Amino acid sequence: MLKKIIIAFLIFILFCGVLSVSANANSEYIPYNIELWVDNQKVETDTGYLVQNGHMLVPAQVIEMTGVSVGWEPDEWKIRITRDERTLTMYIANYQCANGAKVERMPAQPTLLQDTVMIPLRYVTEAFGAMVFWNGSANQVIVSTTGDIQLPWLQEQENQRDEQQNPESRQPDEKNEYLKNKIVVLDPGHGGKDPGAVAGKIQEKDLNLQVSEILKELLVDAGITVYMTRSDDRFVDLYGRAAFANRLKANLFVSIHHNASPDTGAQGVMTLYYPTSKEKSMTGKKFAQIVQRNMVEDLKARDWGIIPRPNLVVTRETSMPAVIAELGFMTSSQELKKLVTYEFQKKAAESLYRSIIEALHQQ
Ligand SMILES: [Zn+2]
Repeated sequence: MLKKIIIAFLIFILFCGVLSVSANANSEYIPYNIELWVDNQKVETDTGYLVQNGHMLVPAQVIEMTGVSVGWEPDEWKIRITRDERTLTMYIANYQCANGAKVERMPAQPTLLQDTVMIPLRYVTEAFGAMVFWNGSANQVIVSTTGDIQLPWLQEQENQRDEQQNPESRQPDEKNEYLKNKIVVLDPGHGGKDPGAVAGKIQEKDLNLQVSEILKELLVDAGITVYMTRSDDRFVDLYGRAAFANRLKANLFVSIHHNASPDTGAQGVMTLYYPTSKEKSMTGKKFAQIVQRNMVEDLKARDWGIIPRPNLVVTRETSMPAVIAELGFMTSSQELKKLVTYEFQKKAAESLYRSIIEALHQQ
């Protein structure tokens, strides 16, 4: 209770300066002529769009197309955006946003355009787990809440990629029919402004993505439906990653990371999970045991075991069995030499693949 009061007080203090903050803002709102798509539907709006600081603002009704509700309290200039248990609270002409218990700075400020409440698109939709793409060649912004995007230009890219691969290998054989209805979300840790662990020129975010991409191909070949929380070098909010998997009703969630330690001699693998007392056929803990056992065996790595971590967002906020696989220590120069090689990354991906298949069959 005390915590709630303190948080409410902090939020109050932060928002006390609504008017003074707006007076200081010198970045302009500029009309933005662009095509916007939400979940494969082209958005029609009379109001139009704005851009501020390079970030697009859209009418509240457009934000509601992504499955959230927007409440507007004109007396306080207050906007409340909610879905399920989650709420974002922001004010007109103010960068600050209360995102659950934390206060964040948004890249652009909400504003009014002819009485229409205009809201920063990317910040808000990503906070609720959607993905936002920019197609520069066609001047389109694409928002997807499901990860399922059917726009012609994206389809073309997919087809080109498929052609480069052996098409037969992507057909699931009959014994894998069971896997066809399974959904796995891969979560390459960090990204964008968050590099994760850094060793010289090597950044963890890149290694995480490299392994995830190999793993994705293996799973797709087995007929499993795979989604990635990011497939390029971008920043994705941790809550957004979990919300993304929850909305997809994924069967498993695998977050891929590399470790760091002040002890530069430390080497080996560990698997983190969220401890729960729920009894299910497959839990985060059971999944972690499978992942860890296979990694130790396949990578001939030192065994740090499975570790319960109650405070990690992606494993705590996901509603399906979820693990964080730590593939090795970047702080060990000896281990790092291995981690950057394709051979190791492929071995690690194959090991995680085996674990995912094993866990899916036990679910
Ligand atoms: Zn990490």
